[in-house]
Order: sequence, then structure tokens, then C-alpha cells
Amino acid sequence: MNDNHKSRRVGIIGAGAAGLSAAYDLVSQGCHVDIYESAPFLGGQASTFLINGVPIERGYHHLFTSDQSMIGLISELGLSHKLNWIDSNVGYFTKGKLWKFTSPFDLLAFRPIPLWDRVKLGLVTLMLQRRKEWKSLEQITASEWLIKNAGPNIYYAIFEPMLRGKFGRYYDQITMAWLWNKFALRTASRGKGISGKLKEQLAYPSGSFGEIFDTLAMRIADGDGNIHLSNYVKKIVIEDNRLSGLEIAPEGGSSSFHSYDQVLATVPSFVLPKILDNIPEDYLRKLTDKTYLSAVLVILELDRALTPHYWTYVGDRELPFLGIIEHTNFIPATHYHGAHIVYLTNYLEPSDPMYKMNPEELYQEYIPHLQKINPDFQESWVTNYFYHKVDAAQPIVTRGYTESIPSHRTPFKNLYLANTTQIYPEDRGTNYSVRMGRNVAQLMTEDC
Ligand SMILES: Cc1cc2nc3c(=O)[nH]c(=O)nc-3n(C[C@H](O)[C@H](O)[C@H](O)COP(=O)(O)OP(=O)(O)OC[C@H]3O[C@@H](n4cnc5c(N)ncnc54)[C@H](O)[C@@H]3O)c2cc1C
Repeated sequence: MNDNHKSRRVGIIGAGAAGLSAAYDLVSQGCHVDIYESAPFLGGQASTFLINGVPIERGYHHLFTSDQSMIGLISELGLSHKLNWIDSNVGYFTKGKLWKFTSPFDLLAFRPIPLWDRVKLGLVTLMLQRRKEWKSLEQITASEWLIKNAGPNIYYAIFEPMLRGKFGRYYDQITMAWLWNKFALRTASRGKGISGKLKEQLAYPSGSFGEIFDTLAMRIADGDGNIHLSNYVKKIVIEDNRLSGLEIAPEGGSSSFHSYDQVLATVPSFVLPKILDNIPEDYLRKLTDKTYLSAVLVILELDRALTPHYWTYVGDRELPFLGIIEHTNFIPATHYHGAHIVYLTNYLEPSDPMYKMNPEELYQEYIPHLQKINPDFQESWVTNYFYHKVDAAQPIVTRGYTESIPSHRTPFKNLYLANTTQIYPEDRGTNYSVRMGRNVAQLMTEDC
């Protein structure tokens, strides 16, 4: 590394967690940074909108105690006092009944599977939580491993619905390495509560995740950084196999070329070939063989609570949604001027008929099923509803996934890629995008 990085001009595509955290570090090193974001808002998948004038995420968000990169960044930004740590409260709706599913005691009382299987589930959970090695799990699917080690009762009653909930029709192709990581990390989110029972704590920033991104944006602007919202990157321009610059199309304006020494793209893998020509075959395959699901969210504003839980897994397939996240069982409804806020969530492919439904059609599809969750529910409880679709929300992580991860250094000199397909075996999350954004910023500096 030499002193060139002081005057380095860096372009970043995307103002989500990865792009903003990379920019924060690069600006603090003295680089000139321009971030281009096609949306009119910051935060990407973790962006917010307003309910009763109060910001809230388009898709439910929280942090685990294991999310140390995000917690560290929040601390650097002087926002630690804004993080509220709250006991998790999980439910599971299966066989027409809503079960408590938070503690080991809830598991013992979970009658849809025989007592011996409940005990076995506890033992398998413990075994996965204690396990350190994961590479040998990579070639096995979670379904295969669970049927063999936990048995079909446990798999079909609990894990198959959960895997379907996250990965849709790809549920039986997901590598066990991914599921192992969920167990290993969730251990870190648990601690001894006052009552002595094991419980998990989750965090949510007062002011929403938007407060973190707004503060990051301010720090970037305090240095030599600019964030250009509603600016779509049309083309990454390459000359002689090395980066030359970006062609930018501002909304409602005409395109222009901007030269950069380095560019970081934080776009989904399938977007890169649309804005970059002549990608070598090997790298292109790693981009185009990635499958993502979209998160489709109907957000209800109710005049009272729907469930007693923050997070309810929906195991019964006759319900058309896969999860109920009652945000106001986490952050009180008083914070939203009395509105009770419930996300009904699905992960869908664009070919799915429910993906194609308009907000009103999807709302009408969902509403009749809410009485199954809470028999007292009346549609008159709904005072408003919202709809959001987040494309490229969930990468599908199949057997042997490591081999198919594209490198952060692309085949073109000075062009870098950081997106959620490169997060593994961890599940994608703001924490890992922050970690990745900062790591790639470091890589870019080392390459100077
Ligand atoms: C429903 C849902 C729930 C979630 N829950 C949690 C949670 O509880 N906790 C947690 O930590 N994480 C959660 N996540 C995951 C987390 O939000 C993401 O992993 C993280 O925000 C991804 O950040 P990123 O910067 O890597 O990507 P993104 O947020 O996708 O940012 C990429 C940005 O690039 C922009 N872009 C794309 N193409 C172009 C272009 N050509 N020109 C300009 N801009 C472009 C996009 O508009 C986008 O803003 C959730 C995600 C979803 C969808």
C-alpha cells in the first residue's frame, strides 16, 4: 500500500449496509467516495418507511447478541445507548394450534411430537450448538442430515416447515452447513435470565435501523463522501481489462460518465452482468447460477394485538404465509401511537402466483386465515395495511456452496463485488453485510 489511497476516487454502487459501511471506512482513510443508489432511500433491504410518522423497516429486523460487527459499528457511531435488548418470544403454529416455542420448557410441552422426540430434539439441538466443525456438513443437505440424526417425526413436524418457510421449493436442497450455523450462532444469543431459565435476547435500535444508516450517511458526508439517491448505475465501464468508471443515470436526468480509481458493487449477483460486459465465463457462471427468493410482506396495522408472540413460525401449509412477526410484541405499540404492527411474510419466486398478486389481492388472500391463528380476529381490527416486496432477499445455499462463491476481487482490476451470496455459512444479515463491506474496503486499500 502507498500514499495514493489518500487521493483515491472510489465509486460505490448501493447504499445498503455493505455499501455504507465500506464508504464509512474509505472516507475515514481520506478517499473521495461517491455512493450511487437507485432507490430514493438509504438502507437497501433494511430500509424503513413510516407508520403513523414513526420509521419502521419494510421487512422486520432485529439483531442477535452474536451480531458483533453491527454492534461494534453502532458503538463507533456513538449509538450504543439506542440499542434495546429484549427477551425473544417465539410461537409455532402447527396442526391448527399456536404453541409457545421460546424455552426448553416450551419444547418439552410441545405435544405435536411424542415426548421421546421432544427430548431427542433437545439433544440434537445441543449437539449442533456445541459442534465447531462445519466443512464436512457442506455436502449433506439439512433434510438428509435431520432425517438421519433427528428422525422423520422431528424433521416433518418442525424443520421441514421452517426450511420451506425460508427457502420455498428449494427447502430440501439446502446445505446442512447453513443450518448448523444457525444453531451455533443462536447459542451465542442466549444467556441466563434473572429467573435462571435459558432465554434469547434480541436487539432493536430506538429510532429503527434507519437511525444507524442516517448516522453513517452523516459521517460519510462529514468526510469527502457523497450519497446520490435515485441514481441508477447503468454501466460499469472497463478499458483494457481494468476499471475506468461508471455511467450514471439520475432519475429524470440524462446519463453521464464519472471516472473512478476503484469501484465496489454491492448489487445482487444477477444484476452485475446487466451492468458489466464481457465477464469471463468462470466468474459469470458463479454470478448467474445463484438463485434468490424475494421477500413479500403484507404489514397490518391493527387496533389490538393478534398473537402473544414476537415471532410465530407457521408450520401448517394450508395457511398461505410462512411467518407472523408481531413487531409490537417486541417494541410496544405506544411507540407507534397505539398501532399494533404485524408482518405477514413469505419468501417467493417471481413465478409464484402470490408474487404476482397486487397488494389488495394478497391482503384478501391472507385475511381469512388470521382467525385460525386467533379465533377472535375480525377484519375490523385492521386500520391500515402496507405491502413491500424485497427482491434478491434470500440466496439459496445448496450442497457444496463454497465452490460457487464469486470472489470479492472481480476479474477486472479495481472492480470489487460484495453481496449477500458471499456470506456463508452464516445467513445473510445486516451484521454480515457490515463485516463484508468493511473487509472489502480493507482489501481495496491493500490493493492500492
Ligand atoms: C424481510 C427481511 C428481513 C430481514 N431481517 C433481518 C434481521 O432481522 N436482521 C438482520 O440483520 N438482517 C435482516 N435481513 C437481511 C438484511 O436486511 C440484509 O442482509 C442486508 O440489509 C443486505 O445489505 P447489503 O448492503 O448487502 O445489500 P442491499 O441492502 O440489497 O443493498 C444493495 C443496494 O444496491 C442498490 N442497487 C442495486 N442495483 C443498483 C444499480 N444498478 N444502481 C444503483 N444502486 C443499485 C439496491 O437498491 C440496494 O439498495 C432481512 C432481510 C429481509 C428482506
